[in-house]
Amino acid sequence: MQIDIITCLPSLIESPFSHSILKRAQDKDLVKVHIHDLRDYATKKHRQVDDYAYGGGAGMVLMIEPIARCIEHLKSHRQYDEVIYMSPDGTLLNQNLANGLSLLKNMIILCGHYKGIDERVREHFVTREISIGNYVLSGGELAAAVLADTVIRLLPGVLSDETSALSDSFQDDLIAPPVYTRPADFQGFKVPDVLLSGHEANIDTWRHEQSLLRTQQRRPELLE
Ligand code: SAH
Repeated sequence: MQIDIITCLPSLIESPFSHSILKRAQDKDLVKVHIHDLRDYATKKHRQVDDYAYGGGAGMVLMIEPIARCIEHLKSHRQYDEVIYMSPDGTLLNQNLANGLSLLKNMIILCGHYKGIDERVREHFVTREISIGNYVLSGGELAAAVLADTVIRLLPGVLSDETSALSDSFQDDLIAPPVYTRPADFQGFKVPDVLLSGHEANIDTWRHEQSLLRTQQRRPELLE
């Protein structure tokens, strides 16, 4: 998989891909992540990528020309399954959507900033719009990092234990069971006996029961 992220603030999004699981995924060549600085595609002086909104009002808008140039440049090198714009009014991101996107080969993720992007980009270049929640961020960079993270960790080989992503919350519409590590007794706070028993079948049953219980208590809508 290759993910090309277009942003006017590249430094804002570099860090999440330079550590831990996402870094290892790239080191192992399971995914390529390229971050593109929109200013490199500016068509005006001073690497300008935003301008005032027609009709007035506060806030700058990212211009169509640099975005179109960047997308066309990327498309001249490979085919993309999706050009995704991170947007508060897009489809709400959930595990199911992430599972689907993890099957794609190449995708572009476009980050808006300021007041957003020229609507004509959305109409003519973007194939899918995704929101990470019903709240507004300052820019699409953090949202793009969230999207890329949740997709990359699903790629085969990225998590050391291949089944690990399948036992996470929201897969099978259940919340993950509680987890514990050493010590078995911290000042009288004990780990459930079953987890220390070594009895695999009992542990599986306990975990499943806990998943159901948690889902009923915390996210009953998932069981409907
Ligand atoms: N004026 C816009 C918000 C612009 S916020 C509106 O009211 O809808 C600036 C940028 O941040 C957006 O272009 C988008 O790329 C990103 N963004 C903000 N909130 C987001 C969210 N919840 N999910 C995904 N992207 C978001």
